[in-house]
Amino acid sequence: MQVQPRTTTYDVCIVGSGAGGGMAAYVLTRAGANVVMLEAGPEWWATKDSAMLMPTAQSPRRGRATRTRPFGEFDACDGGWQIDGEPYTRAPGTTFDWWRARMLGGRTNHWGRISLRFGPDDFKGKSRDGLGDDWPISYEDVAPYYDRVDELVGVFGSREGLRNHPDGNFLPPPKPRCYEMLVKKASDKLGVTCIPSRLSIITKSINGRQACHYCGQCNRGCRTNSNFSSPEVLIRPAMKTGKLRLLTGAMAREVTVGDDGLATGVSYIDKATGEDRHVRARVVVLAASAGESARILLNSKSSRFPQGLANSGGVVGKYMTDTTGADVSGFIPALVDHVPHNEDGVGGMHVYMPWWLDNKKLGFPRGYHIEVWGGLGQPSYGFGGGITRYPGAGGYGKKLKADYRKYYGATIGFSGRGEQIPNDDCYAELDPTVVDQWGIPVLRFHWKWSEHEYNQAKHMQETFRALIAEMGGTVFSPMPTREQGYGIAAGGRIIHELGCVIMGDDPTRSALNRNCQAHDCKNLFVADGGPFVSQADKNPTWTILALAWRTSDYITEQRKAGAL
Ligand SMILES: Cc1cc2nc3c(=O)[nH]c(=O)nc-3n(C[C@H](O)[C@H](O)[C@H](O)COP(=O)(O)OP(=O)(O)OC[C@H]3O[C@@H](n4cnc5c(N)ncnc54)[C@H](O)[C@@H]3O)c2cc1C
Ligand code: SF4
Repeated sequence: MQVQPRTTTYDVCIVGSGAGGGMAAYVLTRAGANVVMLEAGPEWWATKDSAMLMPTAQSPRRGRATRTRPFGEFDACDGGWQIDGEPYTRAPGTTFDWWRARMLGGRTNHWGRISLRFGPDDFKGKSRDGLGDDWPISYEDVAPYYDRVDELVGVFGSREGLRNHPDGNFLPPPKPRCYEMLVKKASDKLGVTCIPSRLSIITKSINGRQACHYCGQCNRGCRTNSNFSSPEVLIRPAMKTGKLRLLTGAMAREVTVGDDGLATGVSYIDKATGEDRHVRARVVVLAASAGESARILLNSKSSRFPQGLANSGGVVGKYMTDTTGADVSGFIPALVDHVPHNEDGVGGMHVYMPWWLDNKKLGFPRGYHIEVWGGLGQPSYGFGGGITRYPGAGGYGKKLKADYRKYYGATIGFSGRGEQIPNDDCYAELDPTVVDQWGIPVLRFHWKWSEHEYNQAKHMQETFRALIAEMGGTVFSPMPTREQGYGIAAGGRIIHELGCVIMGDDPTRSALNRNCQAHDCKNLFVADGGPFVSQADKNPTWTILALAWRTSDYITEQRKAGAL
């Protein structure tokens, strides 16, 4: 392979600019390190590039999804379930979908900004019920970093004192909307805990950033920088230090190693020219997303590491998990012909339900939280899921318009997001024959849910149906059967893939130690969802941010001590 050498040796090379990479760049540049960041996609800055206030009617597509913006024309995130020239494969019989972003900031440009701390139990699953593995660290190790992330990034919420749903340093939460008050009433009646949501959207001005003005368009990116995206909140301040060199359109191929077995840098493809290039660095931090970091490691083969780097235990790609998910929505007659009123708010739910039950009394071992949706957001292409779903609605002309007005906002939906237990049937490996457009071997996925997850999905379905019934509503879809998996989303579909490069104290069962440092290579670290030993009944990104900060502090200490 023809590699063009660069003369500079950076202190740190970070691969990927999403949640983990952005945080590593922020912390390491402030600690004085000279950092180079390789990002496969182009630059995109929400305060400059977002279509936050663009009326859908201004586009002939009316907001309809495009190939690279599958969540809608105006959505901030460039990427998708399939990317041209970058395939992945699935083992026979496997259903798995992999969502990848290709842009500065990765998935943080779109994400739902649900920002939940893992609780003490979530780090010690095996000790509780014998399943999966314990993390080598505990909540107390991560708590100071959650505090710092709260202060830097900003998160709203309410202090509830729930043991396994730790409170943070919250900004004031917005008030529930009309339909959310209905949900709260039904939840209270059925004994489901329903509290203000916890989103990284700032309801007060902090750190020179403007407070949210409640336009509800967070998924388009925020022009006033009032929600969290890695480029605006982490990478821009890192660049201001003068210590960050950002290389976009740079697709990392492999981590290179020297004769001493230490990482020497990263080879990458300059996508504009197709040329192979190399950056030299004393420390390498992979943050390309859990799956992609595993792929880079498996492709980093050398005579010293023939199975790939950090893989002498053969565990890279293993212990892969996704959040479990099932959704139910229904028609709520109480919301028909509503009095027109202002439902502006943040671009996300104002209430949610953290896990509220004791698994010892249930037929599945781990919990889930409930996300709530509905209301009167700005309509876009395909909104409402089809007017004919509503009683007697449809037709043409005046009646059709009247029906839209009548039924608009009369749907409420619930999404369960739960914890999967890692199992031997869920993993990624290199496909032996398929390569991407640059000749780099791609990942092949294997996936099987276990009975734990199916039983959990069944419970989600029953709960959501009971909530809709309690509100006097009618569910749009029949209860799925066991054969239909109780409606559980396919692996990967909830876009929370974690693991593949897990941390642990035993090098034969983990790729990284408790500081997210490779057992096999002391100047190699992983700072995305790869090190996660398990999921939780929470979304993962607040923990990715906290762990990336912790890892970066460790790198700084080790550099000061001359160990790196
Ligand atoms: C629609 C949606 C909603 C979500 N909602 C939530 C939520 O509410 N709460 C929550 O906690 N999480 C949510 N998530 C998940 C969240 O976005 C991810 O957990 C988080 O962004 C992961 O951060 P990361 O740094 O690991 O990876 P990413 O954010 O994916 O960033 C990885 C970056 O690496 C780059 N890259 C990949 N491969 C290479 C390579 N070979 N060379 C160079 N660069 C590379 C990519 O271009 C990308 O920019 C959501 C995700 C989506 C898509
Ligand atoms: S709802 Fe608030 S944070 Fe979201 S895009 Fe609008 S102003 Fe920004």
